[in-house]
Amino acid sequence: MANTIKNYINGQYENPINSNWLDNYDPSNGEIYGKTPNSSKEDVEQAYLSAQSAFEQWSQTTLEERSRILLKISEGIESQLDALAEAESKDNGKPISLAKSIDIPRAASNFRFFANAITQFASESHESVGQNAINFTLRQPIGVVGCISPWNLPLYLFTWKIAPAIAAGNCVVAKPSEVTPMTAYMLGEICNKAGLPKGVLNIVHGLGTTTGQAIIEHPNIKAISFTGGTATGAHIARTAAPMFKKLSLELGGKNPNIIFADCDYDAMLRNTIHSSFANQGQICLCGSRIFVEKSIYEKFKNDFVEKVKQLKVGHPAKADTDIGALVSKPHLEKVLDYINIAKQENGTILCGGNRITVNGHENGYYLEPTVIEVPNEHCRVNQEEIFGPVVTIMPFGTEDEVLQMANKVKYGLSATLWTNDLNRTMRMSNQIQAGIVWINTWLMRDLRTPFGGVKASGVGREGGFEALRFFTEPKNVCIKFK
Ligand code: NAD
Repeated sequence: MANTIKNYINGQYENPINSNWLDNYDPSNGEIYGKTPNSSKEDVEQAYLSAQSAFEQWSQTTLEERSRILLKISEGIESQLDALAEAESKDNGKPISLAKSIDIPRAASNFRFFANAITQFASESHESVGQNAINFTLRQPIGVVGCISPWNLPLYLFTWKIAPAIAAGNCVVAKPSEVTPMTAYMLGEICNKAGLPKGVLNIVHGLGTTTGQAIIEHPNIKAISFTGGTATGAHIARTAAPMFKKLSLELGGKNPNIIFADCDYDAMLRNTIHSSFANQGQICLCGSRIFVEKSIYEKFKNDFVEKVKQLKVGHPAKADTDIGALVSKPHLEKVLDYINIAKQENGTILCGGNRITVNGHENGYYLEPTVIEVPNEHCRVNQEEIFGPVVTIMPFGTEDEVLQMANKVKYGLSATLWTNDLNRTMRMSNQIQAGIVWINTWLMRDLRTPFGGVKASGVGREGGFEALRFFTEPKNVCIKFK
């Protein structure tokens, strides 16, 4: 079969040992277009052994050499921009324009960023004044680490973990989402061409409950960097805690987008379309709860709905598509269920709400972008992560009121504020329960900043030196001198 994905172990492409395969679906037409291994414990063990045998040498490779190889991987990704973007769009259903402008360039940036960051990574020293002693900290790689990523930004999030892990001198057993395995599969060859030594990166494909479970249960995989749903994160924490594994968990979100009347209205409207529906609303950072100050609520509602209706839902490969297909049939059904829940909760569907067909691709997983006016902030569609092209809107009166509503969810990933009042931005940034606050912008990323959430949105931070700290163990050395 043309699109047969294989595991990448010890620099080679391998079939799963037990010959167990999963179907790979094209969300744009609902058809099976390839197969993916459903790797077993035995495959994960092979990947682990390969990583373990590469560790001694890789952890002693000079920083300059590691950096040089990571830069080559970055260049390899860039040189295959078109092929990778096409594969990502087909596997995930996202518009090709998005894959080409965001997903794949960012995967290249991840390797470039950590290639440079590792050459600047430093550790602390403390002079014990009056005691003739100096303490310094070694930051040593952990060994073999596990990286598990979701389907929404497949290569982008996969590399966001792998790049710092290997830059810091670890060897990796990685698993992409079984729903979108294609670009992770292509990464193996890019790494070989870049001269990454065999075994430093091993990629195993399969279901979370089989392959993922084998990674998190492995007694010698000492750290797990995971991005995905909150329920999966809780399961990983329960499994890993008795083995004292180091954990970084980037989980779900239900992020508030808070709009004050004094904002730059046009910029806010343009960005709010984007923060609501980019990637079919399947970004953990999407501002899916929109709160608007009463005095501009009716105007916003009319302008926003009019703009949403203009978004073009279409085949992901078409250049003019704004909204492609949702990633899978079960996910489409989950999002449609939430639209029904909204109706039962007396929400008003202001636009969208229906599955639609795209000519020639009748079985694709397409959904109209949907805006729901909710009667209160407590309803389920305002509390639970939907992770699709669906946003809620409601008005607020005062800053205190909106702050309370914004914080009254179990999640705390990101928040966006639209206001030109500097004092208010400071007051609210201090009090809002989120790992990231954007003021008058959304998803503006500087890879040096700490990235992650609080409450049910996760534990730990990725990005910049935070990621390098996660992937190393600090060791204090104290020298007494005379
Ligand atoms: P998911 O939790 O179902 O799966 C994520 C990954 O975990 C997949 O590779 C899956 O196979 C694996 N997995 C599932 N069960 C496992 C188990 N028992 N052991 C080990 N691995 C297991 O999430 P998803 O549906 O792929 O992704 C959507 C979710 O990801 C949303 O909740 C979204 O908010 C979240 N997300 C968070 C961030 C962030 O940075 N906080 C970024 C993107 C997505």
